This record gives sequence, structure tokens and C-alpha cells, in this order.
Amino acid sequence: RDLPADSESRNFVRQVHQAGYSRVDPTHVSNPSWVAGSKEVANLIGLDQKWLGSDELTQAMAGNVLVDGMEPFAMCYGGHQFGNWAGQLGDGRAINLGEVQTADNHHWTLQLKGAGRTPYSRTADGLAVLRSSVREFLCSEAMHHLGVPTTRALSLVLTGEKVLRDMFYDGHPEHELGAIVCRVAPSFIRFGNFEIFASREDLETLRTLVDHTIRSEFPHLVEGESEITPDTIAAMFEEVCRTTATMVVHWMRVGFVHGVMNTDNMSILGLTIDYGPYGWLEDYDPDWTPNTTDAQGRRYRYAHQPQIAQWNLVALANALVPLVKEAEPLQRGIATYVSAFQDEWHAMMAAKLGWSTYESETDDELVDSLLTLLQLAETDMTIFYRQLADIELGSRSQPKELVLKDVFAILSPALYVADEVTEEYRQALMDWMRAYQQRVLSDAGHEPNDAERRQRMNLVNPKYVLRNYLAQLAIDASEKGDHSVVHELLDVLRRPYDEQPGKERFAEKRPEWARHRPGCSMLSCSS
Ligand code: AMP
Ligand code: MG
Ligand code: MG
Repeated sequence: RDLPADSESRNFVRQVHQAGYSRVDPTHVSNPSWVAGSKEVANLIGLDQKWLGSDELTQAMAGNVLVDGMEPFAMCYGGHQFGNWAGQLGDGRAINLGEVQTADNHHWTLQLKGAGRTPYSRTADGLAVLRSSVREFLCSEAMHHLGVPTTRALSLVLTGEKVLRDMFYDGHPEHELGAIVCRVAPSFIRFGNFEIFASREDLETLRTLVDHTIRSEFPHLVEGESEITPDTIAAMFEEVCRTTATMVVHWMRVGFVHGVMNTDNMSILGLTIDYGPYGWLEDYDPDWTPNTTDAQGRRYRYAHQPQIAQWNLVALANALVPLVKEAEPLQRGIATYVSAFQDEWHAMMAAKLGWSTYESETDDELVDSLLTLLQLAETDMTIFYRQLADIELGSRSQPKELVLKDVFAILSPALYVADEVTEEYRQALMDWMRAYQQRVLSDAGHEPNDAERRQRMNLVNPKYVLRNYLAQLAIDASEKGDHSVVHELLDVLRRPYDEQPGKERFAEKRPEWARHRPGCSMLSCSS
């Protein structure tokens, strides 16, 4: 079905009261073209891969035509941005097309990001540019293949239209290429969807949303049509606490920095959502944030993400209190977050280092000193863990003698000769390596075996991540009409833990040119 030419008739900007969403129409675009698609997501929603790249799907994913059954809507939500309540935000440039029900009883919402203004666009244009859309498309899929819970991306199309953005390249407004990503997730409901009604003391709509969310996304918590009780709501909250802990532990494992962990960017399903000014840790700097908007406060820096997630969960708990009636059951959820995070963090660190378990008493010190060492010299986190798996430690009866030069030759030949690396640092690293060797060789769960340890470590320490400069290379090419880099990266990132001969250039440390290039290190919020 074609859409009306004038989408403003019902998309006009406004405060929306006593409603979780508003019906909207995507804005018609002049000349859409296909950039890339995900065959895995097509499979997920039961769409034959032959449609990817077709004219029909291009038109639909650009928001120009609706398929039977689609009833587009934009959701109303609020949020705490950088710690402050921001009032109504909502899907300002995201339009939900509807939900696909699959034969195996799953449901998937398709959402176009950048398909024009909605009641929630405030002063902005409802559009997205190719640059940020390439980043969202590639990172969603890369994260999925890394095993990180995330929203997915079905397609990336150009709209054929220009979008005005105050680019950071030279500080002047510039026209960029408009683009739309079709995101896919069971639901895009965020913490902020609940907060907005609680803040307005609109408990009726809050109750409707909670009921809907539990019945649709947490059906295992209710029996049939039975009533949703305060206990059910607390149980849902506890589950959100658990899935959020898991998600953040995965971020820490792969070196992902979300960059804008506002409560409107926190999924009720514990999925990574809203790929804006995110970034990947390169040299191990726990204080790093990719978000220029956050450069002062550094609220959303890498090492702070676990605490921020907890802060956000408290904000969600506050929104649910009026329905749960008492704080205690929700406090239990927060306690669950703290202990789940700790347990999963330990298990994750043990796996990264090739240990069968984490022994808090003794392993804390070994992990802490490693993380300190990684900071002292510019160590690429991703490469480091892969190389650590390559170092031969020998067996219990025949431990290998570790030699400084050999260890550095594997860990980082550049570090060995780097001027800024002192003799003390080299010695400290060697001391750590020896302690690490001892820890591995005395591991209770495994008869130490270098080949086997390497295999295990390589299952949790990726070789290929969407390094900030790689995304930028794909963007540079796509902006000139060459989408082959997007395709090639998408393909490499499908198997992030595998050695991929011929693709090693995508596993290389950030080159010098990328160090200060905008887009390769720092990014601003919404583009
Ligand atoms: P974000 O920082 O991406 O989480 O966005 C915060 C809020 O701003 C959300 O309500 C977005 O929908 C909205 N927003 C961001 N960019 C745009 C845009 N270009 N047009 C309309 N709304 C936007
Ligand atoms: Mg957002
Ligand atoms: Mg965003």
C-alpha cells in the first residue's frame, strides 16, 4: 500500500498523553537504493533471502510502501539523559512498522530508523545519515555474532535525499546522504517507556504498558489470563536486572563502550540498543568514552558502565514502585543485579584468561594487576587477549621458561622497543606473566595444555571487532558509492572468533592516521 504524500497530517510534533504510542506514516523519499542486508536477520523473520536487494524490499525499507498488515507507530517514552530527567522524548526518528509472527512462535518488531518526523521529533528532522546508519547496521550485526545481546539490523538503504548536519569535520553544516536502517528486535520497549507515565503520575497507562510488556515479553511469568500482581511486576524487574547484568558483562568482555547509556537507551529485554556514539576500546583505557558530548563528565566511560546500568535500573525501579506498592521487592532486583554482575564478571574474566573457575581470594589480585599493566603502556585490548592465548606455558611437569624477549615478541614487538616503555614495565609484565603461568598450570579444572587453552580462550576473545577506524573506512567508501567495504566487513564480522586468512588487516591495531581523525575516535550524540 502506498503512503500519503503528506505525512505531516498525523505526525505533527506534540506532547502525547495517556498513550504508549501514536500512529504515524513514514515520510516518502525520492529515490531509495539498497546498500546492504543481513541474511541472518531475513532468516530470523522468515523472509526469503531473495528479497534482499530487490526493488520491492528497498521501497518498503525506505518507508515508501507498506506491506499488508503494517500499522506504523512511534512510541512515547521519556528518559534520564546524563543523569537528568528529560521529559518526553519518544521515537523521534524511529517508526515501528509492526510485528512479524514466525511459525516457531517468536515475534519480531521491524523498526525503520530515519524514516521522517514523528510526534516525538521535537526540533529535529526525524532523519538519519549514511555515516551513522552504516555504524548502526554493522555494529548491530557484529555484536550479535560476538554473542552480545543486541537489537538486529535487517537492511540499510539510502533515501536518495540530502540531510543537513553540523558535521564535526570542519565545524560547518554540511549536506550528507540520508539513510534508513531497519532494526529488528522482539520489542523496542525501553526503561524510559515506563518512566514517562510514572513521571506524569498516569498510573493507568503505566499499568496498561506493564501488563502488555509482561504478557508479550515475559509470558513465562504469568499463567494464562491470570491477573498481573505486584509480585509479577517485581519478577519482571528482577529479570531485567539479570539480563542487563549479562549484557554489560558482554560489553566489558569485548571492549564495547555504548557511549549514551541514558535510560531511554536501555532495553527492557537487556539488548544493546541505539548505536550512536559508541566505540571500541583500543588501547586499554578504562576512562575512555567515545562520546564528545560526554567529554567533560565522562559519565559513560568504559569502566563506569556497570555502575551506570545499576543507576538506570534504579530509575526503572522508581517508575515501577507505584504499581509494586513497596520498595523491598524492587531492592531485591537491584541486589540480584549486583551479585549477577559480580558472578558473571568473574566467570567472564576467568574464561578470557583460560581458567576453569574464578578464585576470588587469589585471582582478584592477578586480574587487577593485569588491568593496571594494560593501562600503563598503550596495549590494544583485543589483540592482547588473542596473543596471550598464543604464549606457550608448558605443562605441570614441564613448565616452559618464559623469556622476556620471546614473550614481548608475541604480546607486542612494538611494546618491546617502544621508547615510553620502561625497564620497570617490562619486568612488571614478566612478573605478571610468571604468576599467570603458575595460575594456569595449577588450575584445578584443567590439565594444562597450551593448544587446548588457546582454543578455549579464542572462543571468548574475539579477533575481529568493529574497530572505530574500520567503520570509518566503510563509511568513506560508501559515501563515494562503493558499498563493498560494508559488505566485506559484515562478512568478516560474521565469524569474529575465527582465524580468517587473508582478512588479517581487519584485525590490526588502529593505524596512526586514525588516532585523531573524527569518526575514528570520538563521535557526537545524535546524527
Ligand atoms: P539518542 O541520543 O539517539 O538516544 O536520542 C535521544 C532522543 O532524540 C530520542 O528521542 C530520539 O528519537 C531523538 N532524536 C535523535 N535524533 C533525532 C533526529 N534526527 N530527529 C528526531 N529525533 C531525534
Ligand atoms: Mg536513543
Ligand atoms: Mg541514537
